[in-house]
Amino acid sequence: MQGYIINLNKVKDEDLIVTIISRESLDTLYRFYGARHGTINIGFKIDYEKEASGKSNILRLKDVIHIGYKWINDYKLLRLWQDFLTLFHKHLKDAEELDKFYFDLIDNASNEWNKQNPKRVAVEAYVKLLEHEGRLHKELNCFLCSLPIKADVSLIRAYLPTHKECTHTLSLTQDTLYELFSNKSTLFMNDKEVDRLWRILLEGL
Ligand SMILES: [Zn+2]
Repeated sequence: MQGYIINLNKVKDEDLIVTIISRESLDTLYRFYGARHGTINIGFKIDYEKEASGKSNILRLKDVIHIGYKWINDYKLLRLWQDFLTLFHKHLKDAEELDKFYFDLIDNASNEWNKQNPKRVAVEAYVKLLEHEGRLHKELNCFLCSLPIKADVSLIRAYLPTHKECTHTLSLTQDTLYELFSNKSTLFMNDKEVDRLWRILLEGL
């Protein structure tokens, strides 16, 4: 099966506990250290097998093949990608079941990552995730004071809308926000606005 590594924990010696999102499941697996193993890292897409490992109830990760991206050697892109995928671990680590939405979202993002500002790809993917989880607040009532928002909108964590005056952060016009929330597009946003939404995203999904 194929999946994306969203977390690595070093255990004794060089062994690792690896968390992987696949289309079917969220797998937490044990990887024994072996000199013949290639290095794996957060964000990598791999093909792998799971195997029962004796008395332990944690399955073993085996037959790992790294599936590279075209942009894997671009350090800047890889670093942003790792920051993005790490967020999924914090968000999903306690999930018992996982629908294929998350794998597909990450898979699509990986294909777009080098084609435009990757922060745009991440912000657009996040709006899709919020909608999928029923957490996208399209009604423009301020999360802080509850009054309707008639002018520019400032987003806070989970992209909750607020009055610019209530949070004193960089705001978006209503047209820009509409394009983002309805069409899942950052088309009307400049890079500074994208940067602000990326930084909110880093606070957690
Ligand atoms: Zn307000």
